[in-house]
Amino acid sequence: MHRLKGHPEERRFLEEVIEKSGQNLLECLQCGKCTGSCPISSQTVGGPRQLIARILHNMQDAALEDPTWWYCVSCGTCANRCPVEINMYQVATALCEMAEEAAVAPCEPAIHRFEELFLKSVRKYGRVQELKTVMQFNMRSFQPFKDAKKGLQLMLKGAISPVHFIKGGAKDPRVADIFTRVEQLKQGEKAHES
Ligand code: SF4
Ligand code: SF4
Repeated sequence: MHRLKGHPEERRFLEEVIEKSGQNLLECLQCGKCTGSCPISSQTVGGPRQLIARILHNMQDAALEDPTWWYCVSCGTCANRCPVEINMYQVATALCEMAEEAAVAPCEPAIHRFEELFLKSVRKYGRVQELKTVMQFNMRSFQPFKDAKKGLQLMLKGAISPVHFIKGGAKDPRVADIFTRVEQLKQGEKAHES
C-alpha cells in the first residue's frame, strides 16, 4: 500500500483525485492486472497501472495528459480483475473534469469534438440523433462528405430519414433539466470550495 508522503502541497493532486473519484488509490498494489486486461492498453497508451503510478507520484501534468483516461471505454474489466476493486472509470471521469478545469488540451481532439456533439444532442433531444451528430462531426472535422456514400445507402434502405434530419427530432426538456441541474451542482461545489 502506498502512503501519503511529503509536503501537503506536493500530494494535493493525489488527494484531489481520490476525493473526486471516490477510489482509494493508496491501496493500489501496482500489480498490473488492470493493464493486462485493459483493451485500450498498448505501447503508446500505457494503461491504468501506469496512470495510477503517475497519480500516486503527484505527476499532475503527466496524469492529466495521459491518453489512458481519454481512450478508456468504461468496460469495467480492470475493476473486475483488480484485487482491491479500484474502478478506473471513476478515476477517468475525475481526471476528465480536472483536465477541463485546468484547460489541458485534449490528447485526441477528435474524441473531444465527438463527445461534445454527442452530449449536445442528448441534452437537446433526450437521445443522440445519429445522422445529425455524424454530419456535424464531419463538418467540424473539415470532411463534410466523408460518410456521404454510406449515409445515402442507409437512406435508400430506409434506415435513416432525411425528413427527420431536416425537421429535427422531438426535444426532451426533461433531459436538458438534468444537465442544467448537474451544472448548478458543480457551480455550487466550486463556490463551496473557494
Ligand atoms: S489491478 Fe488494481 S491493484 Fe493492481 S495495478 Fe491495477 S489498480 Fe492497482
Ligand atoms: S474501464 Fe477503461 S481502463 Fe479499465 S479496462 Fe476498461 S478501458 Fe481499460
